[in-house]
Amino acid sequence: MAGAGSEAVIGQIIALAGNLIAQSPQAEIAGIGVGAPGPLDPKAGIVIAPPTLAGWHDVPLIDILGQHFGLPVRLENDANAAALGEWRFGAGRGSGSLVFVTVSTGIGGGVVADGHIYHGRRGLAAEIGHMTITGEGDRCFCGAIGCFEAVASGTALGRRATRLTAAGDGSQLRRLSNDGDVSARHVVEAAQAGDANALELIEAEARWLGIGFTNLLHLYSPDLIVMGGGLSNGFDLLAPSIAAIVQQRAMPAYRDVPIVRAELGDRAGLIGAASLILWEGEPGLALAMAQDDKDSGATADARERGRSPD
Ligand SMILES: [Zn+2]
Repeated sequence: MAGAGSEAVIGQIIALAGNLIAQSPQAEIAGIGVGAPGPLDPKAGIVIAPPTLAGWHDVPLIDILGQHFGLPVRLENDANAAALGEWRFGAGRGSGSLVFVTVSTGIGGGVVADGHIYHGRRGLAAEIGHMTITGEGDRCFCGAIGCFEAVASGTALGRRATRLTAAGDGSQLRRLSNDGDVSARHVVEAAQAGDANALELIEAEARWLGIGFTNLLHLYSPDLIVMGGGLSNGFDLLAPSIAAIVQQRAMPAYRDVPIVRAELGDRAGLIGAASLILWEGEPGLALAMAQDDKDSGATADARERGRSPD
């Protein structure tokens, strides 16, 4: 579907959303929240030109969906949507500021600063995966050397594991991969079983993550860092070494910030995108959300306010 162009994808979105609406005739629908790959302009509602989707150039997604369904539509980049999901309903509930980092094929993230998603110029802030954290290593798909993503993503971990071993060497990593390329998932699995190679790779991975997270602590001073993405399946293995690196590298005032695993898994982006319609765009409410903690009464109130046609 990603290569099919914007019209085919939007046609699919409209068909799926139409089915959902038809299945729930009694539902009172407040609007539509959309998480999409960046870069995009959340205020104008325009998907600018995501590198992962062919044929999308300045697509006015909010206008298209809004006209079709006659409902309010809000748009957010997918990493920011996942950050919102974890902040409002997951590991970051009740915090005022958090950094969400998703570590899987690439590295993405979103920053909640003082109760609001931090957008920056043209909505392009917090491109965490492309901060430079070393001067060497493999070239990132963005063209630069030493991006956080190029050294610390699940892809980078798999590549290191593949280079460390060889097909037919009888290692646990190659047994798990059936002698093909080793993936991050294989490394986590082998490390959980105590394999020495895998544990060494996890140690190196945790070092890169610890360096990146230390930068995020110094830049944003969040109440917590939430790590999601496929590699968070190995969070328990990674966490002690990440913490050790942060203790070494962060200035003392930042060392006690919790680094925790995401709670919503694959659903963080969906939940966060849906929640856009409940709170975004109503001044003050996002901050009120940050303070409402786990009080479901206040959440229901906010939902009611989100629905009212003002
Ligand atoms: Zn890069």
